[in-house]
Amino acid sequence: MKSVQKTVLVLAWLVALPAAAQIAKKPAVPAIPGYQTLLCDFHLHTVFSDGQVWPTVRVDEAWRQGLDAIAITDHIEYRPNKKEFASSDLNRSFEIAAQKAVDMPVLVIHGTEITRDMPPGHLNAIFLSDVNPIETETWKEAIDAAAEQDAFIFWNHPGWKRQQPDGIPHWYDEHEQIYSEGKLHGIEIVNYKSYYPKAHQMAIDKKLTLLGNTDAHDTIGMTYEADLGESRPYTLVFAKEKSAAAIREALFARRTAVYWQETLYGDSLYVAPLFYESIQVPDTPLVLHGKARAWVAITNRSDLVYRLELEAPVGGYEIAEEVVLASGATVPLQIRSLNSTETNETLAIRFRVTNILPRPDQPLRVTLQVPVQRLASQDAK
Ligand SMILES: [Zn+2]
Ligand SMILES: [Zn+2]
Repeated sequence: MKSVQKTVLVLAWLVALPAAAQIAKKPAVPAIPGYQTLLCDFHLHTVFSDGQVWPTVRVDEAWRQGLDAIAITDHIEYRPNKKEFASSDLNRSFEIAAQKAVDMPVLVIHGTEITRDMPPGHLNAIFLSDVNPIETETWKEAIDAAAEQDAFIFWNHPGWKRQQPDGIPHWYDEHEQIYSEGKLHGIEIVNYKSYYPKAHQMAIDKKLTLLGNTDAHDTIGMTYEADLGESRPYTLVFAKEKSAAAIREALFARRTAVYWQETLYGDSLYVAPLFYESIQVPDTPLVLHGKARAWVAITNRSDLVYRLELEAPVGGYEIAEEVVLASGATVPLQIRSLNSTETNETLAIRFRVTNILPRPDQPLRVTLQVPVQRLASQDAK
């Protein structure tokens, strides 16, 4: 083949190749009974507000990192690039991202960030049909306009130091007002690189949906130092199917959890099944030779990490006090019998999972069922 023809062919191939045809890595996070587990980020900026990226970049990033859904939430009130754009339509960043995602497995949700002083601070409204009516004089009019579109509305970075200098979220009268009117549905307990325990407690007390979002302005790669072990937060949504409508339903029903920096935050209704669906304990009995040590191989099929601490001793046995179930790995848990008579039984071993927090100060408790068969042994040590 002549080199000119070859060049033309290569160029044609490059043009036909979507930018997203790169390596995509979807974190393995199991479904739970009745629901799919979707990985989402409901807080992202583009050049249409103060972000550094064109809206399509958000879709490509989401695809590469295995996200199921993202919301484009540009600020209404802060648009430093405004003069660069002929259009003043506040829906443009969403439309450009949504167009890009048409043939991709990434759902793009139409949102905006209502950007006001504290109180009430910044709030995201998502599942909008039109952002333009939300550009209003007062913050309350903006919330009302979003509520009129049946938006899901949540409080962003409630402990952001620029607005709340002590970093401790405070529930102001303004929050109580929109909450009592049914216009505040969720709260970010993780934003960017911060976890707010007080916000987590507020979410439990007020029955608000938990959210953990990046609030990325730059690319995700420039925002989190992967080489230093940093990772983006995810909002895990337990949805009946992968669709925008099912995500919306799940958000209003508070079926979410947040995963960030190897910690999972969420109601035990969802995080406990997520743990058990991740873990596999052999159902064939572990053979113990009298008092000799043995190891049961526990497999964690997920990309989440689980840190277990023994909660209570199991009568007649000595069990490892701590075990880390590394992602996608099989890990030995040491078990030793304290006597050497023959038996067949199933041990119910209770652990605290110190990096799963249904409440800010309370780890999840789990029980692993481990069948053992103890053989009498003369030479056991
Ligand atoms: Zn904000
Ligand atoms: Zn933001």
